[in-house]
Amino acid sequence: MFVSEALKTNSLNHLEIGGCDAVELVEKYGTPLYVMDEGLIRKNCRIYKNSMDKYYNGNGMVLYASKAFSAMAIYKIVDSEGLGIDVVSGGELYTAYKAGFPMDKVYFHGNNKTIAEIELAIDKDVRRIVVDNLEELKNIDRIAGEKGKKACISFRIKPGIDAHTHDFVQTGQIDSKFGVALENGEALDIIKFASTLKNVSVVGVHCHIGSQIFDLAPFELAAKVMLEFISQIKNETGIVIEELNLGGGFGIKYIPAHDPIEYDSYIESVSKVVKGICEDKRIKLPFIVMEPGRSIVASAGITLYKVGAVKEIKNVRTYVSVDGGMADNPRYALYQSPYDAVLANRLNAPKENVITIAGKCCESGDILIKDINFPKVTAGDIIAVMATGAYNYSMSSNYNRIPRPPVVLVHEGKSRLIVKGEDYEDIIRNDIIPEDLG
Ligand SMILES: *Cc1c(COP(=O)(O)O)cnc(C)c1O
Repeated sequence: MFVSEALKTNSLNHLEIGGCDAVELVEKYGTPLYVMDEGLIRKNCRIYKNSMDKYYNGNGMVLYASKAFSAMAIYKIVDSEGLGIDVVSGGELYTAYKAGFPMDKVYFHGNNKTIAEIELAIDKDVRRIVVDNLEELKNIDRIAGEKGKKACISFRIKPGIDAHTHDFVQTGQIDSKFGVALENGEALDIIKFASTLKNVSVVGVHCHIGSQIFDLAPFELAAKVMLEFISQIKNETGIVIEELNLGGGFGIKYIPAHDPIEYDSYIESVSKVVKGICEDKRIKLPFIVMEPGRSIVASAGITLYKVGAVKEIKNVRTYVSVDGGMADNPRYALYQSPYDAVLANRLNAPKENVITIAGKCCESGDILIKDINFPKVTAGDIIAVMATGAYNYSMSSNYNRIPRPPVVLVHEGKSRLIVKGEDYEDIIRNDIIPEDLG
């Protein structure tokens, strides 16, 4: 009945997550409320880590792609499970640093890292800076030199595979703001140039081919293309690339129609491809890095809302408005992303009508779920949108000056606040009225 294994029905016909009754959570913390199940986050971390050990003899590292959900407590959990992280901004890096995350397990991505971000990454001695472009490479070399350090780098490569949709296509991907292309020689050139620089050490290559992918084939193809490139680099320049980072993008179940594959099969199948090609081409097995983000946290999260206005527009549509919306989950507004929801305080109620769950923002596009089969609801009912653990809190905004909801971590019947909810004072905190405005 639920799209996520984190969820259960309890004896009161209420939704239960991490052993906590969703209705009680609402009484304690209010709505909207982000709830994250600690057990499932940990379980997902272990699946990836164990499969790296099992199928690739541990000769690799799993990174949690933390843009999916970045908060200090989440970094703590991921660290205790032995994963590394990737960060894509100084803000994420700083959050991880303040949480005590080991900086030698941090990869720093981004297509336009600022000078200040590069300085922060080098000051903190992150394990890897993933270089996006020539300008950045020169900045890294210069800044590392000024600080008397050597930066370990890898390169974001466009492998010519685009897997953002159900079908994946090869080529055409050169039209992307991320990284350097293979087919026009740009990738080889930047690596040759990097090998002449004094303050960087070329360690790896990286690609990230898309997100919410349900297939093994694009990952196997990416591994093949990247290994051929590693072999070409060695043959043409003598440079040995020791690390292959294949990014993230593993799909999750948002709605019943989604059918993701087991998370450990990615590393299993990629390992096979890598071992086969390395033997063929007589290259050393690279250290493998994978970067799951969504698939670690998405299913572990729900968002709880209270129903307000219900508008039944005869022969048109029934709008059920809740006390959150695109400010806490912009993904429908951005990409028409599908979600599933349940009536958390009456799970046994029959699904009698089709409704559209709308948010409270002044924006017609502020929809959470369009046309879902749902029980009849009235003001005060509690709706749980499921699988909101990734790219909801991390993409939230204060649009309409709506304070961000709190985040609660649940585990074995206990709930703990991990991010305080904002209030109106937080909303005006950075506002300044210049004196001459009166
Ligand atoms: C976003 C991103 C990921 C994670 O993608 P998911 O779809 O959340 O698994 C991994 N690596 C890089 C470089 C990314 O930008």
